[in-house]
Amino acid sequence: MSPQTGPPFGARLEQARRAMSVAGTDVLLLSLGADLPWLSGYEAMPLERLTMLVVPAAGTPVLVVPQLEAPRVMARPDVFTVRPWAESEDPVGLVATLVGGAVTTRAGRRPVLGVSDRTWATFVLRLQSLLPGFDWEVSSQVCAPLRAVKDDEEVATLARAAAAADRVAVALLSGEIALIGRTEREVSAEVRRRLLAEGHERANFSIVASGPNSASPHHEPTGRVIGRGEPVVCDFGGTLDGYCSDMTRTVVTGEPSAELRRVYETVAEAQRAGVAAATVGTACQEVDRAARRVIEEAGYGRYFVHRTGHGIGLEEHEGPYMVEGNTEVLRTGHAFSVEPGIYVPGEHGVRIEDIVVACEDGPRALNVADHSLVVVEA
Ligand code: ZN
Ligand code: ZN
Ligand code: ZN
Repeated sequence: MSPQTGPPFGARLEQARRAMSVAGTDVLLLSLGADLPWLSGYEAMPLERLTMLVVPAAGTPVLVVPQLEAPRVMARPDVFTVRPWAESEDPVGLVATLVGGAVTTRAGRRPVLGVSDRTWATFVLRLQSLLPGFDWEVSSQVCAPLRAVKDDEEVATLARAAAAADRVAVALLSGEIALIGRTEREVSAEVRRRLLAEGHERANFSIVASGPNSASPHHEPTGRVIGRGEPVVCDFGGTLDGYCSDMTRTVVTGEPSAELRRVYETVAEAQRAGVAAATVGTACQEVDRAARRVIEEAGYGRYFVHRTGHGIGLEEHEGPYMVEGNTEVLRTGHAFSVEPGIYVPGEHGVRIEDIVVACEDGPRALNVADHSLVVVEA
């Protein structure tokens, strides 16, 4: 695939249709979320006006889109046709009619509709009342396993996004981004600016959690002023050419306590173990177990309160999930985070996160910024 030709939407449609036939899904109804852009290149606006791609098992999909947003649609007549709707039309009724025309009810079986996981309830409930004879499921049942396996072009884009995030991490680790005496919010805003400056089209999030706040994994940056001898967990990511970055480094301001050093070394070892375990053919839960074992053996097991990782792609969090109970096996092209942490309430927390791709010749970490304990003096 060359960048000039763009993503292989036609091939993805064929893949989706094969998966629909295996799953017994008759029509996909794609609205908000990443299934729609993955299949069509078009992202729906999260608005009260309905956008929905109707994908029947056979025949050309139809993109039902508000007339005023139709100019944003890049035509792909080989993949879908466009049906703009005017302000006085009823788009939900329009979708119901398209579904009715596409599905031939077979005896003894209710047809199944796969609707985007994030479609607004206001649309789903009306569709359900207009299509009473149908069963419903989420479209991710069909699309998530397909989206989880990245092709070479997607891996290359994820690598560019990771490299851009890495450059921000290097600025943090080198002290170029000052920490001591600044508020978490100020540092978070600078990280966001730098994500954009390094090539992301969007900065999606920037957690800066200092001192005791570092013990809260999803801490919202506050006006707390960063002091000396503290861990600062920086977890940030953005979107570059449609694909997400997400990485975490924990920097220490001034000489850390022996206990904080021990926590850091444990997390770093757990992170290495998680990455090393992420080989093709390994169950996702084994990646979690490999990282968790290190933390448990060091006596911090109860302080590792989240799964080890999540898939990443068009969305920051998608399948596959590195979590106990997920026996799904890693395949070539699976891209996901490995991000163990230790969070001691009221004391401190440390997390280290890289994006990793399962490759034929072993796990490939896309983030390479220093994993060792870095003490900054500014
Ligand atoms: Zn998170
Ligand atoms: Zn993260
Ligand atoms: Zn993450």
